[in-house]
Amino acid sequence: MRYGEIYFTLSASIIHPMGCPSGCPYLLGEFAVRWKGREESTNVEDRRRSSTPKMAAGGGGILLIIALIAILLGADPKAVIQNLMQGQQQIGGVQQADAPIDAPLNPRDEEMAQFVKVILKDTEDVWDRLFAQGGEKYQKPRLVLFTDKVNSACGFANAAVGPFYCPGDSKVYIDLSFFDELAQKYRAAGEFPRAYVIAHEVGHHIQNLLGTSDQVSRLQQRMGKSEGNQLSVRLELQADFYAGVWAHHVQKMKNVLEEQDIKQAIVAAQAIGDDRLQKQAQGYVVPDSFTHGTADQRARWFLKGFKSGNMSDGNTFDIEYKSL
Ligand SMILES: [Zn+2]
Repeated sequence: MRYGEIYFTLSASIIHPMGCPSGCPYLLGEFAVRWKGREESTNVEDRRRSSTPKMAAGGGGILLIIALIAILLGADPKAVIQNLMQGQQQIGGVQQADAPIDAPLNPRDEEMAQFVKVILKDTEDVWDRLFAQGGEKYQKPRLVLFTDKVNSACGFANAAVGPFYCPGDSKVYIDLSFFDELAQKYRAAGEFPRAYVIAHEVGHHIQNLLGTSDQVSRLQQRMGKSEGNQLSVRLELQADFYAGVWAHHVQKMKNVLEEQDIKQAIVAAQAIGDDRLQKQAQGYVVPDSFTHGTADQRARWFLKGFKSGNMSDGNTFDIEYKSL
């Protein structure tokens, strides 16, 4: 692994804090992790079929709004209602043909689910070994695949919140559509960014097992908002570090990554940095409101974990906040 080149890539993209313009070739293209045919985790709960298809409520709701506007603009209410009924039947019909709730999921989603299971198994193998080295037994988390919305011990969640870990039930929750978002909206294409996301959430599970998350939430109850946010940044950067530690060991144990994979993970870590996201959303940054760390910090802590492979190098809590 030539780290010099990775750092070059890292600094080249920091030059474009608003997101990489089209002239950044390393953002493009799919880089594959060797995962096909490898063992899958048995700790995945597939709740995708129990979710409601997206179009059902949305399509009907939009039609109703159009109808109301038409009536307000002077259309004949009887004709509008008739049209509405026909339209709804049509949408219902299309839906029945396209996406009945119990239909088999499409092959791409199935492949993505398999990928998640293989990567989860990789996290189990690495953390099993690292915990055993410390004389402990690793309690594996479960991973829930869902569509649109899901109920967890942390409450009801919408896919818009992105993948998350709930300490209350020790489960990672992922709507697979986030992986498309990662490639399209955040321009982190390729397979390894997805693996990084899973490894980051599993990183939160490690923090839960070690009691770190508990300590943080207890401290946060006693402090103000911006101080609490700083603690959250420390927690998130440590989860990025643990994702890097995992990448270090999975490579050592199974040799499944290419150099490009690490570059892609760095692109992903940067893309979901608070400064990038805030600039994209509102055009400016509010550092006090950061909860996950900047693009630069996220990439650095991931890379630090990847280079070191040693959990004790990931104490993000004893460093001065400005030097994180
Ligand atoms: Zn996180």
